[in-house]
Amino acid sequence: MFQDVINPARFSETVGKVWMMSEAEVDEVLEQAHIAFNTWSRTAPEHRSHKLRDAARDLRSALPEIATLFVRENGKPLREAEIDIRRSIELAEIIASDLLEWSKPAVLDPSQPVLARRRPRGVTAVISPWNSPVLLSFKRVIPAIATGNSVVLKPASQCPLAVLECARIINKHLPSGVLNVVTGSGPIVGEKLTTDERVRTIAFTGSTATGRRIMELGSRTIKKLFMELGGNDPALVLQNAILDEDAVARMTHAILRGAGQVCIAIKRIYVHRSRYDELVDKLSQSFDRVVVGDGLAAETTMGPLNNKSQFDFVLGLIEQSRNAGLRVLTKGKKLDPKSWQQGYFVLPALILGAAEDHDIVRCEQFGPMVPILSFTDEEEAVARANNTPYGLRASVWTAGRDRAEALADRLEAGAVFWNNHGIFRDLHIEFPGIKQSGFSRDSRWAALDHYADTYGFGE
Ligand code: NAD
Repeated sequence: MFQDVINPARFSETVGKVWMMSEAEVDEVLEQAHIAFNTWSRTAPEHRSHKLRDAARDLRSALPEIATLFVRENGKPLREAEIDIRRSIELAEIIASDLLEWSKPAVLDPSQPVLARRRPRGVTAVISPWNSPVLLSFKRVIPAIATGNSVVLKPASQCPLAVLECARIINKHLPSGVLNVVTGSGPIVGEKLTTDERVRTIAFTGSTATGRRIMELGSRTIKKLFMELGGNDPALVLQNAILDEDAVARMTHAILRGAGQVCIAIKRIYVHRSRYDELVDKLSQSFDRVVVGDGLAAETTMGPLNNKSQFDFVLGLIEQSRNAGLRVLTKGKKLDPKSWQQGYFVLPALILGAAEDHDIVRCEQFGPMVPILSFTDEEEAVARANNTPYGLRASVWTAGRDRAEALADRLEAGAVFWNNHGIFRDLHIEFPGIKQSGFSRDSRWAALDHYADTYGFGE
């Protein structure tokens, strides 16, 4: 059965069709991957490095077409889509070069003739979400293939087309069966991957609820798991925060990039009472400059939400906030008011007056709105920021780096940013989430390590 992939900015446009595979079809693909592993795992690292570089070169030449397809199925502005693809390509180049040094056996202790050697694990399943489909697929696929594994990749059915196109290009450089894409539903295709004995490693990026299910099912065959899950990131704005134009622009970007459909977006702001009015005023002005429209239009700075279920969820949260008596300050401009109803468009909003137990504070909204809450005491602000099952990212906005560093020690997050939020300047420095946000590190050698077994050899 085919399912339509619809442009979220233009419902009348069917961007493509995705085949919803049966369990038996996935079984066949797994068998091919299993067979391909036998030969691919024995190739030299230099050979695999070479193939990755060739694939990266071809992806770079196809970048403009892939980016356009990405925007049409996902909704995010072209510039943001290009960044996701470019990062995947850079990653392939970096991994291709890291692989050579990483593959060398390590001498553990010169006084003992024991070597730590590495070998690939087998078939790897990569399961990815719809919000950044290309990057969050290939960030896992590339190190898995580089280390000699075969991969079965399952993208989200809402936007699998750019992922399929990237895989088609990469596959020109790989033997058949090394990189496979299976499409379809989570409960059928995803669960087959999670329970099949031939799959030895799973790299999952998605919601905490699905991650929990994969951990349960994966435990039956003791799979090695990589888990990057949901988040509800807090930003703390201290009494001495610098709220100049640059800082407010960075904060706005950290809230509204991807229309808020980003795991590491700022999802709650705690601001010192003395700076509350000023922050609301400055963010209001900044949100007002946002232009919401089709991601392919040059003027657009924020695209639509990706799909109906996310759109309904976000509108429901806004409605619920209004009904609870909260102030919803709707900002921004509609690029094309006439066709507004033809896409999953939502204007950005600031939500004022929320308490800790309101849903807009408790849950991962994954939409273009943020609650702003005030505090008087920094200890209290840290406790409120930590009052969540999640632990992806957090940020401290203050003139004093020392204070930010001291608070970072106590904020329960995989990374804490000072006057910024989300991504470090060096895009390849990453840290895993903590608590129910997951547990897997995937930058540089850590990524390669995840897809390999280390074994000892000696007398
Ligand atoms: P999701 O968990 O619904 O789906 C993710 C993938 O899992 C999809 O491919 C889906 O088909 C598949 N899936 C669904 N049910 C499954 C099952 N029972 N077994 C196996 N696979 C199954 O997530 P989503 O809605 O696509 O993405 C949004 C979520 O992803 C948010 O919670 C967001 O925070 C999270 N996310 C986390 C990160 C991170 O790095 N921590 C990055 C991006 C997104």
